[in-house]
Amino acid sequence: MAHWIDKSCTKCGACLFECPTGSIVEGREIYVIDADTCKDHRSCVMVCPVDAIHLRDRAPAPGQGGANQQPQKPRPGR
Ligand code: SF4
Repeated sequence: MAHWIDKSCTKCGACLFECPTGSIVEGREIYVIDADTCKDHRSCVMVCPVDAIHLRDRAPAPGQGGANQQPQKPRPGR
């Protein structure tokens, strides 16, 4: 079913290395989860300090952000 990240994401990066499938990437404004590769391990949910990660049992509300955000290319040294 996959998870998604709402606009309360502060881009702290805590979830990035928790994902065993590498499905979380840095977007323009928030981090985003690739719904095609997310396997619902929930390890990202456990580390998010602002509870921004949710199970995608419904589409994000308009303006909530989520998987439709375009990810940025990784920056060197990150
Ligand atoms: S842990 Fe939460 S606040 Fe931090 S980057 Fe991930 S989704 Fe955003």
